[in-house]
Amino acid sequence: MAALKSWVGVVWLKGLQPRVSTFGWRLAWNCLPSDDLVRKWQVPLVSRCDLCRKEQESVHHLFLACEFSVKIWTELLMRFEVRWEGFPLMEELFSWWKRKARTILLQKAWLPLAILIPYQLWKERNKRRFENRAASHGSVIRQVLSSLAEFYMLIPIYVRSVSELTLSRSLHLKAQPYQQQRIIELSWASPVQEEVKLNIGGCSLGNPGRTGAGGVLRDHEGNPMRCFASYAGVGTNFYAEFEAFFVGIHHAMSLHVENL
Ligand SMILES: [Zn+2]
Repeated sequence: MAALKSWVGVVWLKGLQPRVSTFGWRLAWNCLPSDDLVRKWQVPLVSRCDLCRKEQESVHHLFLACEFSVKIWTELLMRFEVRWEGFPLMEELFSWWKRKARTILLQKAWLPLAILIPYQLWKERNKRRFENRAASHGSVIRQVLSSLAEFYMLIPIYVRSVSELTLSRSLHLKAQPYQQQRIIELSWASPVQEEVKLNIGGCSLGNPGRTGAGGVLRDHEGNPMRCFASYAGVGTNFYAEFEAFFVGIHHAMSLHVENL
């Protein structure tokens, strides 16, 4: 039941077309009329996957193992800098997808793809089977992206970083900066006599992402006593700020600074 709960948020995502959600729900409950299910109903059937024409069709093969489908998952996940790892069950894919959403760039675009990709794969399978029309994997990817753009036609997507902006472009989504850019005037004053001032900064490329931390220690005349900058591993922007603070304190201690 715990695994089932993870389906709910993904399948009934606000903004998804009802027919897409219904498809997701049927997929979740293993109710799609794929060949393996039709056989379970005691209907004799010669089965062949319409997407690769190499293996027998089953829900697992069609959505998770078929080379055609894996190529689509792999290519779309790559845009989020995520590697396709393969999953034994759809519900495991969904659970993983939802967990991944907590840390992924452009979470809003990530979530609906868990359903939109299988939905377009199923449509492609039906077109090949019943209409004898076949599209390339590139064309299915374009259909996935256009259904994603349709999903976000009315809801603005806000980006918080350059990485998110680049990703939104690669997904053909119109994005807006999270906040309007403003010009803020800043001032800096030297510390008083016999005191030292530490200024620090930390940032991450993505959140989480690769982080860097740096800072400068200055005396009462504003002369730099020590400057530092370092790579701080993978983390959040808060982590990067704290890293810069602790590294700065460490440098102050090594300089025997007593009034910081
Ligand atoms: Zn196949």
